[in-house]
Amino acid sequence: MRPPTRTRRPKAGAEPIDLRSDTVTVPTKQMRAAMAAAEVGDDVLDRDPTMRELEVRVAGLLGAADAMWTPSGSMGNLVALMAHLSRGDTFLAPAGAHVLDAELGTAAWLAGGMPRALEHDAGPGKVSPDAVRRAAGTAGPYYTLRTTLLCLENTHNAAGGAVTAPEEHAAVAAAARAAGLAVHLDGARIWHAAVALGVPPAALTVGADTVQVCLSKGLGAPVGSVVAGSVEFTTEARRLRKMLGGGVRQGGVLAAAGLVALDRIDRLAEDHARATRLADGLHERGWQVQAPQTNIVLVTVVDLPGTLRRFDEAGVRASAMSGKVRLMTHADLSDADITAALDRIGPIEPAAGTRPGGPHPLRRGAGRAPARPAGR
Ligand SMILES: *Cc1c(COP(=O)(O)O)cnc(C)c1O
Repeated sequence: MRPPTRTRRPKAGAEPIDLRSDTVTVPTKQMRAAMAAAEVGDDVLDRDPTMRELEVRVAGLLGAADAMWTPSGSMGNLVALMAHLSRGDTFLAPAGAHVLDAELGTAAWLAGGMPRALEHDAGPGKVSPDAVRRAAGTAGPYYTLRTTLLCLENTHNAAGGAVTAPEEHAAVAAAARAAGLAVHLDGARIWHAAVALGVPPAALTVGADTVQVCLSKGLGAPVGSVVAGSVEFTTEARRLRKMLGGGVRQGGVLAAAGLVALDRIDRLAEDHARATRLADGLHERGWQVQAPQTNIVLVTVVDLPGTLRRFDEAGVRASAMSGKVRLMTHADLSDADITAALDRIGPIEPAAGTRPGGPHPLRRGAGRAPARPAGR
């Protein structure tokens, strides 16, 4: 029989090294102990004390008046966007933002806002105050969309974990506010930005009305995000969360893991150092790598599916992001895992750069045995 839980991570060497995401971590022993011991209540009826403790602590970290737990970052973003947007509105976000590309369009069909992507005119993942001013424009005739919200992302995932500094964030948020827009910050990995910059997370939320942060990305909680803002916002957010089926009862069991996760912010520096080591090692092996600012390494390849397959066969799991190979470092990796991943990946093959899209479509499958013998 298999053990009911798996808390030990695989040793380097035998099992695949999983660099697909920083969400593949398993809860630590300390998290499981905290979950088992958590004081709980019915959060839908009259609040769960551990969940409340987590919400208050995150609100403090983000410099917000209040905060509310959600089961996922997507729900946290959606609750905020539903609070900000109505039908007939449009919202701005840097191209490739999670709310634009990775939440199934819920910003549009549930929150009611037409998305508008802004190019990264101020560096990877970043938009300039000028671009926001221009895009916000002025109110048009009654049949035009109203631009009501700017949605920022720090770090910007699809731009390779790109960091926005406090001054840059404050300037762009101020430009949005001056143009009459509300500001939401998707801070799924705000912790990474804060550690990379050596500033408290609250330094990165200035001028934002609402902020969403993940506890399950990099910090290693099994579940959970928190969305922060004013007390008026969280009052409405509780209704919206319930509407989406996100009201949970004895959520303290999950929040307890989140509280332990918050003690792990400083150790993200290790993940960043390992990402840099990984990127350097890949560069030495001839791969075209973007220098990571945090824990995300993007590798430009000609044949994306072929390269992912090759990595997988070598025992390194990666994912696709922005048309590139994405490798992410996380809490369940050691230095030895990075060394092993580099050994397994090895030098780039010239062939990888010369066969875009793999074999000629007409020749696909030629010479391969049929999947199933005929007649059976
Ligand atoms: C992962 C992620 C989210 C959503 O979090 P889930 O918990 O997976 O729903 C939101 N924004 C960014 C930038 C993310 O990377």
